[in-house]
Amino acid sequence: MWNAQFLWMNEMFVETCPLCAEDGGLPVWRGRRLRVIRAQEEGFPAFYRVVWNAHAAELSDLNTAERGHCMEAVAEVERVLRARLGPDKINLAALGNMVPHLHWHVIARFAWDSHFPGAVWAVAQRPRDAGREAAVAAQLPAIDAELARALDAWQSHQSIE
Ligand SMILES: [Zn+2]
Repeated sequence: MWNAQFLWMNEMFVETCPLCAEDGGLPVWRGRRLRVIRAQEEGFPAFYRVVWNAHAAELSDLNTAERGHCMEAVAEVERVLRARLGPDKINLAALGNMVPHLHWHVIARFAWDSHFPGAVWAVAQRPRDAGREAAVAAQLPAIDAELARALDAWQSHQSIE
């Protein structure tokens, strides 16, 4: 989870923004403009975030090329998670109410997970399935490595500096 300290005056906020100060999770890959981290959220092992490196609050704070770059990275993470895990659904979300620094959540969801079909932030619908969670978790090191390879290859074809 975030370890945030909030100061809502703009100048002060940047200094205390947790995503400016820290990676925000387990580092998977760092690119020129954005990074991918694995969140360690209880009950949802395949939970990644694409985090814009510079402080920007909203998607519309990026220019057109940057927005395209950001969303292509989100799609690349999604593609790897689908190929590796065959989830029932990928959830994409950008909320940022707690930490208003642009980041996309990319979450592999399964019909057996505790909250499906609700959002991961909603109320649980059933008990967690520790065995199935562990089976997903066991694949994460290989998935992280594939994400890093895929994102290196993707970035090499990106014109954005
Ligand atoms: Zn920030």
